[in-house]
Amino acid sequence: MDYTKYQIEGIIWSLARLRSQIATISSQQAETIFNVSLRDEIGKLVIKDSVPSFTLDLKPGRPSPICSPALGATMLRFELASVDEQDLSNLKVAVDQALKQEVTFEMRGHQIGGDEVLAGRAGLLAALLDVKKEVASQQAEFDGTAAEVAREIEQFANNAIPKLTKAILKPGKESSEEMMKSNPELDGIGPISWSWVDSYHSLGAMHGITGILAVLLNLQIGTIDDEIRKYYPDMAETISALCRVCIKNNGNLPMSIPPWPSDSARPSPLVQICHGTPGLLLLLAAAALNIDFSQQYYKPEWIETIYLGSQRVWDNGILSKGGGLCHGIAGNAWPLLMLHDCFEYECIPAKLLDGCSEEVKRAFLKEKSLTGDWLLSRALAMLQECSKTRPFENDEKYRMPDHPYSLFEGLAGTMCAWTEAVLTLQTRLIRLNAFERGEFNFLKDSADEVKARFRELLEARRGFPGMGMDFSYYKI
Ligand SMILES: [Zn+2]
Repeated sequence: MDYTKYQIEGIIWSLARLRSQIATISSQQAETIFNVSLRDEIGKLVIKDSVPSFTLDLKPGRPSPICSPALGATMLRFELASVDEQDLSNLKVAVDQALKQEVTFEMRGHQIGGDEVLAGRAGLLAALLDVKKEVASQQAEFDGTAAEVAREIEQFANNAIPKLTKAILKPGKESSEEMMKSNPELDGIGPISWSWVDSYHSLGAMHGITGILAVLLNLQIGTIDDEIRKYYPDMAETISALCRVCIKNNGNLPMSIPPWPSDSARPSPLVQICHGTPGLLLLLAAAALNIDFSQQYYKPEWIETIYLGSQRVWDNGILSKGGGLCHGIAGNAWPLLMLHDCFEYECIPAKLLDGCSEEVKRAFLKEKSLTGDWLLSRALAMLQECSKTRPFENDEKYRMPDHPYSLFEGLAGTMCAWTEAVLTLQTRLIRLNAFERGEFNFLKDSADEVKARFRELLEARRGFPGMGMDFSYYKI
């Protein structure tokens, strides 16, 4: 079988991810629904030894596993707890290349930035964060040589993460200074910004600033040091600059700064995770879930942006491109799902509401249009709509994605989003049941096993694929 043509790594990776999550969701419930043991069924599809090895062929400025079959297979073997020495070597070569790479590289006559999530260094950093999480959460699954190699890889990742982070932050600072010097009138460029194509800086999550910053904010306490923390004020100011642009555009985010030529010719702005407001919402959720960062730096205008941006996603986020993640409906639902937690579990400091506009205060306090319930209900409705898109349904409203079963454009990604939604719903039900039993203060009143189950479900979520998200430092 041509393994890469059908983007099978991503499909198997999503199945392996689902397999580990099903154990937490409750196999009993899954069996009742599907009349089979899903974990066993998926296990038959995902056979450890069936993942082939590829010769590592990293292209210049392209060290992300999303763009490399060899590194993608390494990440897949990690998910299946079957890594070997070749995987350690692959990661070492990729990190070594990433640390040495220039800020931009030439491709078809253009200077291309090498730090984005989809193909660049932020994608590799996210993979290293995933590796750490896998070793911690799947310890019992690794055996023999795989267990030894996994420990070596974890050590390597611990060492590489701060180095790679600094390697990404440094050119971000320099590119921004250069941009401000050459074009001081430019609106929206903060003190950290990365080059995308020539003099354009992309703002979207897959190719630009919002995605790179989201990965950097997913770094756990313990992997960051004071040298990284000293970039926090600049990161916060950059988020504020993006929010001001989004507010000025009534909740829409342009593709790039300066404006990408074809962007202004569109009848309406793009609303998708790769280009547009959903990427900024994902970043604002990542910033809130990093409690260390949010307690000090979250700003009222970020909440204003969530208010406006989530309405634009709800109004315009049902895309004819289908149900996928990168430019599809499930990708647009995902930030709303994450923002649900930020409001429901009060990760955004409540005192900031005082600095918000009367409209936002009203939305939050009276109209309930900026609450966990509002965000979750919209996310679920959007995910529900995915079931009407091709190839689920032959509805004329939606076109067939280029890769209809893949992780980033097709069913595999939609399935990952649905699993995350099911886990989120289960956390809500636990709290709701506790409340109905009269346990009004969950942390104080509920039994330890109830709180433990809540935490287990919360941490079983894996976050947006390729973003290295981790919910374990998120204290409830
Ligand atoms: Zn896309």
